[in-house]
Parts: sequence; C-alpha cells; structure tokens
Amino acid sequence: MLEIERAEGVYLYDVDGKKYLDLISGISVSNTGHRHPHVVNAIENQLKKYLHLMVYGEYVESPQVQFAKLLAENLPPALNSVYFTNSGAEATEGAMKLAKRVTGRSEIISFHHSYHGSTQGALSVMGDETFRNAFRPLLPMTRLVHYNRESELAFITEETAAVIAEPVQAEAGVIVPDKNYLQAMRKRCHQTGTLLILDECQTGLGRTGTLWCFEQFDVVPDVLLLAKSLGGGMPLGAFIASHEMMQTLSHHPALGHITTFGGHPVSCAAGKAAMEVLFHGNLIQSVELKKKRFAEGLHHPQIRSFHSAGLLMAIEFADEAFNKKVIDGCISRGVIADWFLFAPHCLRMAPPLIISEEEIRHACSVILQAIDAA
Ligand code: PMP
Repeated sequence: MLEIERAEGVYLYDVDGKKYLDLISGISVSNTGHRHPHVVNAIENQLKKYLHLMVYGEYVESPQVQFAKLLAENLPPALNSVYFTNSGAEATEGAMKLAKRVTGRSEIISFHHSYHGSTQGALSVMGDETFRNAFRPLLPMTRLVHYNRESELAFITEETAAVIAEPVQAEAGVIVPDKNYLQAMRKRCHQTGTLLILDECQTGLGRTGTLWCFEQFDVVPDVLLLAKSLGGGMPLGAFIASHEMMQTLSHHPALGHITTFGGHPVSCAAGKAAMEVLFHGNLIQSVELKKKRFAEGLHHPQIRSFHSAGLLMAIEFADEAFNKKVIDGCISRGVIADWFLFAPHCLRMAPPLIISEEEIRHACSVILQAIDAA
C-alpha cells in the first residue's frame, strides 16, 4: 500500500519521496492533472469569500450560478438546468427520482456491467449481481438488459420511466457501443416516452476526446449525470435536465430533492476553473493523438486486445492473476495502473489529459517491462 504525501501535475510522491506517474487520475477524476495552478487559485479565492452558506432556497451561492451557467452554455439547449450533488451516486439517485416524477412510472432499465454508484438506488441498477446480492432487498421494478444488443431495446416499454446507460461502459473494461445502438436506444425512449439518462461520470469533460462523449454518437440524453472530474479534484456531481423537467422536483412535494452540501461553493469554483483549463489548454483536442501514442506503444504477444475511448483505455490480458502481476510490476517501477471492477483481467489507463508524449512513451515502456516480468 502506497502512502502518498503530495501530488503535482501527472505525478504522485510517496512518503519516501518516490515519484509515480499517475495513469489512472484517481479513477477519471484528475483530468487537468493534480493541483492545476488555475484550479488551486480558484479554490484559494473562494476560501477567502465563503464556505457553505445555504441549502438551495432563500438565496443561492454565486459559484453554483457561475458554474451552472458555464455548463449550460456548453450543452445542448434542452440540458439547461443543473442540480449539483456531492457525488456520482447522488446524481444517479436524483435522476432516478426525477424520471419517476416526470413520467409517473416506476420501472428503470439498466445494463449488465454498468456502474452508477454504491447507494441503494444506484446499486439497484448496477449491472453485477455479486455486488448487489448481499444488500437485498433493493428497489423493485428494475431490469437489467445486455449492453449493445439492439434486440433487447424492446424491453423498453410505455411502463419504463427511464433507461440509464453509460455512453461507453467504463467499469466493464471500456466497452464502446455501436453508434447506431445508442441512436436506436434514443429512438426507442422517444417512442415510449421514457427518459434517457446518460451517465458521463467517467466519460465526460474531455476524457473521450470530445467535451461530452454523447456528441460522438449524435445522441442527446434527457438527463446527463456528471461527477468525478466535474469538481477539478473536489467532490462534486450533477444531474442535468431541462428546466421544465427539473421544476417537477419543486412541487408536490416542494423540495422534492434536497442536499445540504451538494454544489459546495469551493467545489463549484474548482470545477469551473478546471473546465476553463480544458477549454484554454487545447487539452481535449490532444486526446486522440495521445490515445494513438498509447496504442502504438503497446504491442506485446500477451496483450489480447486494447479498448479505448480517447484517454479511457483498457489492455486486456488472459486472466486476472496475470493482470494483477503486471499492475504490481508497473507500480514498483513508478507507474500507477489499475484494474476494472467488472473486468479484472483488464488493465486500466485513464491518465490526466495533460500527460505529455514523452511521459506516454515512458509509461508504455514500463508496462511492456512489467508484462515481460509477469
Ligand atoms: N457512474 C459512473 C459511470 C462511475 O464510474 C461512478 C464511480 N466509479 C459513479 C457513477 C459513482 O460516482 P461516485 O463514486 O462519486 O458516487
């Protein structure tokens, strides 16, 4: 177990001063690197003004307004109302409640090998029985279907309140669906009056080479979930929908969804600054070339396949035991890699988007050495 004392850019430093190249970004969090100066500056400025003031209500905190405005300016017009939460799981919970309220229905459809959080509602739509079973009973009227299997979209009916999907399944080992599959899902939801919730907690904010992953599929969700990198390293999530839909949470009952700390002013200030870094640093435009450099640098007979959506990447090995040896070998050589929750035989790479080509070359050579030694 490493004990990390400080972090800067793409590097972590342990208590003995040993330096590690971070290839996982705290699970898709540190897209702009650790302690980006613009983000740290925004946090310091907010610290001088105020911390928590008020739950959404009598007055609103300025950093929330400013960040929500920046998000809405960079989303399709229908996604114009942002509800900030503390985490991804809480964004999932809010979106599921919103779908019930908007449609008056209860059924929620999700996908095998999906991950949307660990709270009981989010767990109810998680695509893995081993993780769920110990915590039953869970929410009724949930149904799992196979991802990227168009015939199973027929399970979405007039009874379905919402379908919740990742535009690229992250914890499944980076599973990129066919473009026409997500479009068919969108069409089926329109036909049945079902809300399409897309979970971009891992894929959002530039990770896959566009600001939002859904852009690559020409699909616009009814509800968008964000978290992870949204707070630039601070805890922050959001569910985003149309103002009209979001209004349903404000009556019968009033205060239909409440959170004390959701959208903490320091988190919102940090998140807005991180988004500015993404825009001004040409980072999103650099993702595709950097992904290509990883793909070019990773050829080895033990590599079964390489899956990727921009800088969300998976190297598939024969089995979990071999993968664990490679991961340990990488870490002992100063490169942090990891595995995936539902694909333990795949090595996770999701570096900060600021990683340089030289650092990518170094990372690839270390991974190849670790494979040889495994
Ligand atoms: N959705 C996705 C796709 C995730 O990967 C995660 C976290 N791994 C979550 C939701 C839940 O986020 P949190 O851990 O902030 O609750």
